[in-house]
Amino acid sequence: MRYPSDREIEEAKDYIRQRLQAEKSMGRNLRTAMLRAAERIISISHKYGIPPKMFRFSLDLNLKHEVEAVISDLRATIEDYTSTLSVATHNDKEEEILAYITRNSYGKTFGERNAIYANRYKYELEAAIAASMLAGTSKAATLQLISKNLEHPYDNPDFIEAVKAGDMNATRIRTDSISYGIGRTNSSFTALRNLTVFAVAEGWMKYWYLSGTEKGAKGFITFRSSSFPCQTCDEYAMRTHPMSDPYPPLHNNCVCGMAFIY
Ligand SMILES: [Zn+2]
Repeated sequence: MRYPSDREIEEAKDYIRQRLQAEKSMGRNLRTAMLRAAERIISISHKYGIPPKMFRFSLDLNLKHEVEAVISDLRATIEDYTSTLSVATHNDKEEEILAYITRNSYGKTFGERNAIYANRYKYELEAAIAASMLAGTSKAATLQLISKNLEHPYDNPDFIEAVKAGDMNATRIRTDSISYGIGRTNSSFTALRNLTVFAVAEGWMKYWYLSGTEKGAKGFITFRSSSFPCQTCDEYAMRTHPMSDPYPPLHNNCVCGMAFIY
């Protein structure tokens, strides 16, 4: 058995630094794409002249279709960014990487989760737009409020005021398909960021794993690149692993790396 040399550990660490750049880029691009969709939907919504208290996308079939088209576009864009950043420059293994990140995991595929969260975003936008209409907020300021509250859409001051005013169709928080339990992701942006950033990390680690396999690795060790307290990753890093063991990322925001044993 040959354990990783210092140089090999350094290479593995450098790889994690590059992976983190791709993850950050994913988060930035996601935010931009979501706000671009919001801007389009605000503009569409104002064309129909629906009274704020009654406002729902579904109130007018054309409005509903126009909004659905933007959301569908957003889903495709998110999928596109995620694939691009997961594969990065590792085109020789593109097929394996994409198969890995889109596999069924805990009962759902990437595409299914993307659709659920994008749909949740649609309802967040509906509530924010109706609330801002009621407050008489301009389109540009509506977008700014959505942007500022992307991580916590129901802290939007227009939304809070609209709920106080009561009797609005769009601001009744829907309980279908939304879980607001303690510790659960409470915005579609956070859910989508977790989903896509994790997929990017997985894509990079799949490539690293395949490279190790091709070089004849018999096992691996993991190391942590974050000082965030995590018992799972601490314990994982203290053992050697056969190639058949799960490899990082072990959970959302896991920045562990791996070096191979030959
Ligand atoms: Zn970790």
